[in-house]
Amino acid sequence: MDFKNYMEVLVEEKMDEVLDQYPDCCKCESCRRDIAVIALNHLHPRYVSTEKGQIFARIQEMNMQSEIEVLRQLMEAVEIVSAHPHHGA
Ligand SMILES: [Zn+2]
Repeated sequence: MDFKNYMEVLVEEKMDEVLDQYPDCCKCESCRRDIAVIALNHLHPRYVSTEKGQIFARIQEMNMQSEIEVLRQLMEAVEIVSAHPHHGA
């Protein structure tokens, strides 16, 4: 089936933008994954059909509100992971 949780796309897209604002935050694979997971668990999933370009129309509709929410959750996730990183050591 062709569908995707659009929030995952947005979280991936915005991850670097948010991390740039936190120079002290570890950016290893493990921490990035933790940040994404925490943020996504706090966001309502938005499933979109990825068939035949439909995704683009749907994305534009929900873009602005979702972006603000994703940025907010990513920032909170960065704070949590910075305080308690789970990577080795
Ligand atoms: Zn790390």
